[in-house]
Amino acid sequence: MIGIFGGTFDPIHYGHLRPGQQALRALELQELRFIPAAHPPHRQTPVAACEHRLRMAELAVAEHPGLRVDDRETRRDGPSYTVATLESLRAENETQPMCLLMGTDAFRGIESWYRWKRLLQLSHIVVLQRPGWRTPRDNEDLPLWARGVICDDNRQLAKRRNGLIMFQFVTPQDISASNVRMMIARGESVQGMLPDVVLSYIRANRLYGYSRQEV
Ligand code: ATP
Repeated sequence: MIGIFGGTFDPIHYGHLRPGQQALRALELQELRFIPAAHPPHRQTPVAACEHRLRMAELAVAEHPGLRVDDRETRRDGPSYTVATLESLRAENETQPMCLLMGTDAFRGIESWYRWKRLLQLSHIVVLQRPGWRTPRDNEDLPLWARGVICDDNRQLAKRRNGLIMFQFVTPQDISASNVRMMIARGESVQGMLPDVVLSYIRANRLYGYSRQEV
């Protein structure tokens, strides 16, 4: 079973990396792929260019066995729809169980995604807690379409290639990329919020308005 973690990664931070690593172990994934979006459809244009975001993700995962970066969305024109990414992964492997990972905030907004109903036909969905967003506790708290397909055991996921939703506990990481960008622009230290190699890259390329030494 492999995991897919899409996002803008502007920049990648420990709120992506630590939950990702925890999910890799807990779900016994063969690998977890971070897939940076070139043109995220639901939000403003990213601040850093796609090449920078991709490079930062590559630097970040280089330290972690089992994590890797997949650049397919950066090689595609037009909006980076997740459904198209899953379809292209399925074209490479029709039968392998696949888990689409996302934070609770992303899951809460999933019905606005392009062809969202198709997502579960292609993959499972694994929701990782994110501070500030409540994890649904019971059926009443879930949309109707999700109620019959909740599972709480990763072995169930591994038996099928798609169609289930699991809420995976991860240690909460109160970090967001927008906060990281804002702090850098203000000249505040973001050390500990993202790997040092990523921070060095931000400094070297003067991203996010970096100008001061203490960042
Ligand atoms: P921004 O602050 O710019 O919106 P972000 O920090 O939310 O960025 P994204 O690249 O937009 O990062 O997020 C990609 C995926 O990672 C989404 O599914 C999101 O829910 C998840 N994610 C981001 N930060 C966290 C976190 N701290 N804990 C759990 N999941 C997270």
